[in-house]
Amino acid sequence: MQQKISILIIEDEKSIRDFMKKTLESYGYRAEGVATGTEGLGMINSYVPDLVLLDLGLPDLDGLEIIEETRKWSSMPIIVISARNQENEKVEALDLGADDYITKPFGTDELLARIRTAIRHNNLIHKEKGKADKPYIAKSLKIDFEKRLVLLNGEEIHLTRVEYKIVSMLAKNSGKILTYANLIEEVWGPHADDNNRILRVNMANIRRKLEQNTGEPEYIFTELGVGYRMLEDEGEN
Ligand code: CA
Repeated sequence: MQQKISILIIEDEKSIRDFMKKTLESYGYRAEGVATGTEGLGMINSYVPDLVLLDLGLPDLDGLEIIEETRKWSSMPIIVISARNQENEKVEALDLGADDYITKPFGTDELLARIRTAIRHNNLIHKEKGKADKPYIAKSLKIDFEKRLVLLNGEEIHLTRVEYKIVSMLAKNSGKILTYANLIEEVWGPHADDNNRILRVNMANIRRKLEQNTGEPEYIFTELGVGYRMLEDEGEN
């Protein structure tokens, strides 16, 4: 029998914790829930789950501390559960090494999609280090990383070097959010000014080239105040 994927839920709101546990179990995951940060850290170290769902607002510890502690020794995927209008906290969580976040209230489909993406990425990181990157394919867009070619409906799209760097990084992490700071550091280096303006200018140009309607993007979505997320790759996992 295949080993079930185990998920640890750290959330002090009982109704949300119970909803997530029940949902995950009904979809074939093993799920454990705890209500405090201390118990959560204990479980991360003893139970070593395949993925953690972490509420940042806990009664005893700051959720951010849990991310920091865990990242000292583990790359297990951590998805932050946050309330609306906490952009700064989300950004901080992602910069400390959280893989993604989901905003309350959320539905089952969204929760499951985020979990699948985070687990897939984690597996890819471990399995495919050093292997050539497979092309990104979603809807009418294809990116061939080896040839550095971007095709929309089979037609080559000309991107500048910087635009290509941004798009390829988003595509290689498709489905996952990348913060402004992640992107700026990757594209312009660790000493770049962390001013988002140049990134936004580039993104506007990218969208003009890739999107039919830049007001309703199909490929690259804005996560307001946090960063960007690219449509998940349809290629085989
Ligand atoms: Ca809470």
